[in-house]
Amino acid sequence: MVGAAVACGLVSSPLTRSLKIAVIDGSPISFDKVKKSDIPDPRVSSITPATVSFCKDIGTWDDLKSKVAPFDSMQVWDYAGLGYTRYNAADVDEPVLGYVVENGILVSSLRARLQGSDVDLLCPTQVDSVIFPHRVGGLPEEEGSNWAHVSLKDGRSIATRLVVGADGGKSKVRKMAGISTTGWDYMQEGLICTVRVDEHHSTAWQRFLPTGPLALLPMNDDFSNIVWSTTPKKAKELKSLPSEDFVNAVNNALTKDFSPPPKSGFAEVLTNRFLSPYFGNLAPSATEEFQFPVKVKSVETDRLSFPLSLSHARSYAAPRVVLVGDAAHTVHPLAGQGVNLGFGDAAALIKVLEKGVRCGLDVGEISLLNEYENTRKFANLPMMAVLDGFQRIFSTDSGPVNALRAAGFNLVQSFGPLKKLVISSAMSNGFSGLPGLLRI
Ligand SMILES: Cc1cc2nc3c(=O)[nH]c(=O)nc-3n(C[C@H](O)[C@H](O)[C@H](O)COP(=O)(O)OP(=O)(O)OC[C@H]3O[C@@H](n4cnc5c(N)ncnc54)[C@H](O)[C@@H]3O)c2cc1C
Repeated sequence: MVGAAVACGLVSSPLTRSLKIAVIDGSPISFDKVKKSDIPDPRVSSITPATVSFCKDIGTWDDLKSKVAPFDSMQVWDYAGLGYTRYNAADVDEPVLGYVVENGILVSSLRARLQGSDVDLLCPTQVDSVIFPHRVGGLPEEEGSNWAHVSLKDGRSIATRLVVGADGGKSKVRKMAGISTTGWDYMQEGLICTVRVDEHHSTAWQRFLPTGPLALLPMNDDFSNIVWSTTPKKAKELKSLPSEDFVNAVNNALTKDFSPPPKSGFAEVLTNRFLSPYFGNLAPSATEEFQFPVKVKSVETDRLSFPLSLSHARSYAAPRVVLVGDAAHTVHPLAGQGVNLGFGDAAALIKVLEKGVRCGLDVGEISLLNEYENTRKFANLPMMAVLDGFQRIFSTDSGPVNALRAAGFNLVQSFGPLKKLVISSAMSNGFSGLPGLLRI
């Protein structure tokens, strides 16, 4: 998704349009349009308004807009039965908080955009090896002698000024460039599948369970998508359950032992006593009251699961190479930020490459690539820290932590400016914490 988006961005800009670009992907090209009666694939992404505006810039939104499912509210709540927060698009004067879209549809829209361009689509074939120069610049050399040399499994080879490593969490390009990563395994798997629910909805529901969050995301018609992050053992059990038992397990996990929090909780006292005098009436409106989620009726696809980890490349740039998307960072899916951060990378990379072309620089020039790295680390690292913090706080099951967590939920629920900050940050493909706070 992210690599093809970089290529779409480059062909959409008058400055970079004339660059010679090849997209190499191990998966075959498919321009199939998804028919309405088809059951949606369970591999989906929730995309933010920032991603939508990027898709508009790179010319893919017109193709996508009729195939995405909008959500205008989001409800997150706790297994401990004490706290919840409801976010509404209206809180930030927007029509939607985001959209859910099948990854296959995102890829098709990107490839359709590239089809009529001069980009070479080398698919399906795999990158076998890349030889990078140690140094860029210095005395003028014969063209190509200090470029990167990419060898493909089908025997072809390419010399290039810049390799964009967009080859996912296990990036071969990253390894071949000698860039190491830091991070950890969450000891969780994300189980996904498509389900039918008892009524169409436009809310993204997520309950935090001790073993990990369970999300029910809206899709078109009466379909929804499940992302259940849990221990590998539990994921295995859930995958092997008969369909009916799995449906019961999902409905139970979403609703069991929850009653909306008492009206005079700690956070409410705090907001009413100390914050309301400065910020006005902070009582939640009727649309923000806790709602029980729709009921799952049946499971419609295979249940697939993927190991979850946090990983961050120590560097996003080296001579003749940059990393984007999961090749640079992977995050827990609890806030649906992964590919959005990747599209943020793509947008930033396109900008610095435009600048390079405008200034007559070599697009593999390391100073240019370092500028990209600095911009994106500034956006990605705080978001990664916040997501990792959430993951840890929500997987701790002890009395005092549960009470603090409930207070946190209720504080966000009843303190509008804080809620706006959370929503704006989640919608912006990077952490807008400080500017968000200043806007308040
Ligand atoms: C359960 C789950 C739920 C998620 N939900 C969301 C969500 O709601 N919202 C969100 O924003 N993110 C979500 N994510 C994260 C999101 O899926 C990833 O961030 C996203 O897939 C990263 O895109 P990418 O293009 O960087 O990498 P990938 O999607 O991993 O693509 C890498 C590409 O590189 C190709 N490739 C790899 N090696 C080679 C090679 N040697 N030669 C040629 N080609 C190669 C592959 O074929 C593939 O096409 C979720 C992740 C999981 C696991």
